[in-house]
Amino acid sequence: MSAPDITRIIQHNLQSVHAEIRQACRNVGRDPAGVQLVAVTKYADWEWVTALSRLHTVFGENRPQQLAERQLLLPQVQWHLIGQLQRNKVRLALEHAAVIHSVDSLRLLERLAAVAAELRLQPTPTILLQVNTTGEASKSGFTADELRHSWPEILAHSATVQITGLMTMAAATDHPEEARPAFRALRELRDELAAAAAAASVPLTLPELSMGMSGDFVPAVEEGATLVRIGSRLFAGLG
Ligand SMILES: *Cc1c(COP(=O)(O)O)cnc(C)c1O
Repeated sequence: MSAPDITRIIQHNLQSVHAEIRQACRNVGRDPAGVQLVAVTKYADWEWVTALSRLHTVFGENRPQQLAERQLLLPQVQWHLIGQLQRNKVRLALEHAAVIHSVDSLRLLERLAAVAAELRLQPTPTILLQVNTTGEASKSGFTADELRHSWPEILAHSATVQITGLMTMAAATDHPEEARPAFRALRELRDELAAAAAAASVPLTLPELSMGMSGDFVPAVEEGATLVRIGSRLFAGLG
């Protein structure tokens, strides 16, 4: 496929995703400016990634190694890490990712805070806490109860890392509506944790909700997503 054809297809897909995001916002009276699209490139050919980089500037990768390699080649793009992070890859992730969506344990948070302090990173790294809202053993993340229980310890790290919100993945389904309860649960948990932070006089409001993928971003936006992570929809038709 020629480069102009690739660009045309991606541009079309991008426009239709943006149109659906705007419609979802309209459904619930939200301002579309409050929803940021993270274009997930983990399965995308490099040619597609470079074509997309002329149309969009916030990308997501789920592996720290591939994120680092691509960030060096396209430093003008903001790269978000959305997949599982092993503790031995923390330094690599901090050096290359603008935002880490997938902080799924207290041990990982502690390691991030320690390495960020050691590297004297300024501004301090931006992270989201991943929540397992579906109870599936295959999904990583804090359970809601683990987060409630660990909240005082997590708040203690809020000076060394900027904890800006929560992230979740709904169960895979052919029916987007089935994902809605997971998204609503994430929003309600955010409200509860932000209230607990305020009660402890810690200014942590958790404004970001990273939720919604190609198959379920409409209910996610309706339930308050501020970051939607979309991959396959953007590259549909490229083979
Ligand atoms: C792959 C991936 C996505 C994007 O999935 P699509 O269905 O291709 O849109 C979003 N979030 C995470 C964590 C992923 O690994």
